[in-house]
Amino acid sequence: MTDAPEQLERIHRRVRRCTKCRLHETRQHAVPGEGPADARCMFIGEAPGAREDEVGSPFVGLSGRFLDEALAEAGIDRSAIYITSVVKCRPPGNRNPRPDEFGTCIPAWLRAQIEIINPEIIVILGGVAFGALFEERAKLADVRGQVRERDGRRWLITYHPASAMRFPTSRAGFEQDLRTLAGLLGE
Ligand code: SF4
Repeated sequence: MTDAPEQLERIHRRVRRCTKCRLHETRQHAVPGEGPADARCMFIGEAPGAREDEVGSPFVGLSGRFLDEALAEAGIDRSAIYITSVVKCRPPGNRNPRPDEFGTCIPAWLRAQIEIINPEIIVILGGVAFGALFEERAKLADVRGQVRERDGRRWLITYHPASAMRFPTSRAGFEQDLRTLAGLLGE
């Protein structure tokens, strides 16, 4: 029986070699995820962007810097969070990941990551990740800020940092949701 860090590292190695969907054909690096195996909180975004594809780490580009600042502002330590996305390889031209792509990647890798880390709270970043994980057609603006209970954990729905960075109303909502998260983590 291996421990959680080893199990997670094994998943990371397999993701880096994964060819289960077409996105492997155009990626430079798969981005499995990053953070402690015993994280209390997991962030799930949409897909790696150009910078993430270059270096193989999540949220390292402009939206990553924005996320770092917003987390610091809310008093949340990024290094305590495990961060990943519903697909691990960058869709060409930054298009949205397609249902067959996240429909392959989630059961192949994300479910195991959630099982190993077993976080108390999962933060869903953006409408694509929400649609992929909750299979609902709701508009993100109608569900963001909600904290739902499922599978024995809480799921906080918020904007994607790239959207929060661009639009002031999304930014205000995103910052409010991070304050909600800080409160949940402080319970
Ligand atoms: S997106 Fe996921 S399923 Fe598709 S090749 Fe990358 S790791 Fe594999």
